[in-house]
Amino acid sequence: SGKIDVLSVPIANITVEETKDFVFSCVDQGLAASIATANAEMVMKAQEDKELARVLQGADLVIPDGAGVLWAAEQQGKKFKERVTGCDVAELLLKEAAARQTPVYLFGAADGVAETVAANMEKRYGKLRLAGTHSGFFSAAEEGDIIREIREQGTKILLVALGVPKQEKWIHAHLSELGPCVCMGVGGTFDVLAG
Ligand code: UDP
Repeated sequence: SGKIDVLSVPIANITVEETKDFVFSCVDQGLAASIATANAEMVMKAQEDKELARVLQGADLVIPDGAGVLWAAEQQGKKFKERVTGCDVAELLLKEAAARQTPVYLFGAADGVAETVAANMEKRYGKLRLAGTHSGFFSAAEEGDIIREIREQGTKILLVALGVPKQEKWIHAHLSELGPCVCMGVGGTFDVLAG
């Protein structure tokens, strides 16, 4: 289905379902991968933040999260199949992970939020195989322990909610230390799924 560039950010023309299939195909093959969710705010940030631009250009998958991104494609005479929000994808991944008992780790947001997300998802979809949770406010000294826990608990899907661009840069910097794990930056999604 290919990609559509929006201000030099290469965004995949895929659906929510195809995104889920990509994630579990990586999981099944034991591959690491990075996923970012593009909205207008992120694309604009990437115009000034060259490190963010490089990280997005090197990501394994950038999904069309924001309505502004779909609009920008239409201005070029192109059309995304659908809007693929980080929130919809995160919930679908957790649903499928519960069904398959895939180890998931929820990293980010304020104290207790990730745990509430896990509890809410378990009410909807049944027991998760939870590799761990950690808040998104941590010291440099704690970071190594978080990375070790993600890897040693056998995490296959890691959702990272540290805000843009911190989460994208964190995933890029640490992907190779996390074991074979699909990592997705999810922004404010934990706050939504905790509510
Ligand atoms: N956040 C975090 N650590 C930080 C900064 C932010 O865990 O150092 C969390 C914050 O609590 C929120 C999420 O990151 O749950 C996304 O924040 P925000 O909505 O401001 O960012 P965006 O939607 O632009 O990614």
